[in-house]
Amino acid sequence: MIVMTTRDPFWKTKSLYEMNHEEWESLCDGCGKCCLIKLEDVDTGAYHYTNVGCTLLDTETCQCTNYACRKSIVPDCVILKPERLDDLPWMPESCSYRLIYEGRDLPFWHPLITGHPESTHTAGQSVAGKIISEDHVDEDDLPSHIKIWPHNIAPEDTKEKEPK
Ligand code: SF4
Ligand code: SF4
Repeated sequence: MIVMTTRDPFWKTKSLYEMNHEEWESLCDGCGKCCLIKLEDVDTGAYHYTNVGCTLLDTETCQCTNYACRKSIVPDCVILKPERLDDLPWMPESCSYRLIYEGRDLPFWHPLITGHPESTHTAGQSVAGKIISEDHVDEDDLPSHIKIWPHNIAPEDTKEKEPK
C-alpha cells in the first residue's frame, strides 16, 4: 500500500489532465526520440526509428529550436496532449508521458528525479550528439538510417504505482 504525503511529487499525485503547463512541460526528459524521423512498415505497421532529426531539432542538445512556433513550421509535429496519448503508437516506451499515462513512474535518470537537467544525456538515454538533421539527408536514403535506440524500461528503472 502506498500512502500519499504532501511531499509526493506532482506526477504521483496529479493526473495528466490536472497538471499545469509548467508541470506538463517538465515531464519531458529531453531525450529527443520523438523528434526523429520514423518509418512505418506498411506490412506490419511497425515503426522504425532513424538517426535523422526533424529540421528544427538541435542535433547536439535535442531541443526544438523554435518550440513556440513548431507546429506552423513543421505541420507534422505532434503537440502532445493527455487525450492524445492513447493514439501515439510510435512514442518510445521510455517517453515520460507514455510512462505516466500507463501508470508507471519516471525512470531514475529523469531530470525531475535527479535534479540535473543533463541527466537524460549522461545516462545515455537521449539522442543528443548521435543524429543528423533531415536537412542533410535525401528522403530515399532514410531506410539506411534506421537505428535502434534505448527504448525499453527495465523493471528496476521504474516502479509500478499502486492503484489509487
Ligand atoms: S519522447 Fe517523450 S520524453 Fe522524450 S523528448 Fe519526446 S516527449 Fe520528451
Ligand atoms: S518541430 Fe520541434 S518539437 Fe516538433 S518534431 Fe520538430 S524538433 Fe520536435
